[in-house]
Amino acid sequence: MSLQENYQHVREQIANACVRSGRPPESVSLIAVSKTHPASYVDQVAALGQVHFAENRIAELVEKKASVQAPALQWHLIGQLQTNKVKLLEADTILHTLDRASLADKLQSRFTDATISCLLQVNCSGEPSKSGVAPAEFNALADYVAQKPAIRILGLMTMAENTEDEWRIREAFAKLRQLSEGLQARRIFPGYKGWLSMGMSGDFELAIAEGATHVRVGSAIFGSR
Ligand SMILES: *Cc1c(COP(=O)(O)O)cnc(C)c1O
Repeated sequence: MSLQENYQHVREQIANACVRSGRPPESVSLIAVSKTHPASYVDQVAALGQVHFAENRIAELVEKKASVQAPALQWHLIGQLQTNKVKLLEADTILHTLDRASLADKLQSRFTDATISCLLQVNCSGEPSKSGVAPAEFNALADYVAQKPAIRILGLMTMAENTEDEWRIREAFAKLRQLSEGLQARRIFPGYKGWLSMGMSGDFELAIAEGATHVRVGSAIFGSR
């Protein structure tokens, strides 16, 4: 299938998943994950009306952002950010992987005259290999980040386990939604939007059923890596 066919197919699947959950289709934003693929692919998908793109490595994001022709794209960083690479992050990028106090400190010192929009990443599946703050430490991290005026928290992000067990996947997504509802009630982040960044090519329909507002889809659009 062509990029265009893949893209239209994913859009239809998102729309159908919204209908099944009784949600308006515009309540879910598609983030196209272009990692490892050339900037020309980004331009092709942008020409179909796609605005949100993501990379998981900051160096590749910087490079691709500079190489694309399409104007006015919104870039997202969805992979782990090492503190020594925070200097490469620009204020117009949305960071989905704020998961520790040391990274919050570095962001605060980098963005003295600006604010950086972030999501708190939570390890809802509890797998040791996954990054993200543990649910038990979530409130403490949120309280810490709330002391950093340069950081604007928009919502939460998680990755589900790579498993056939749909119940386990949904459980992780439901956990993220519950944490977000709890955070909303605590009112510690002015302008909190309740974004839930969850769901990838293999599980975005389940994520939409559990309330995802942003799905991060790579291979279903761009092909395998
Ligand atoms: C690569 C990646 C995705 C997209 O994965 P696909 O399975 O290709 O859709 C989503 N989220 C994160 C954090 C990723 O690193």
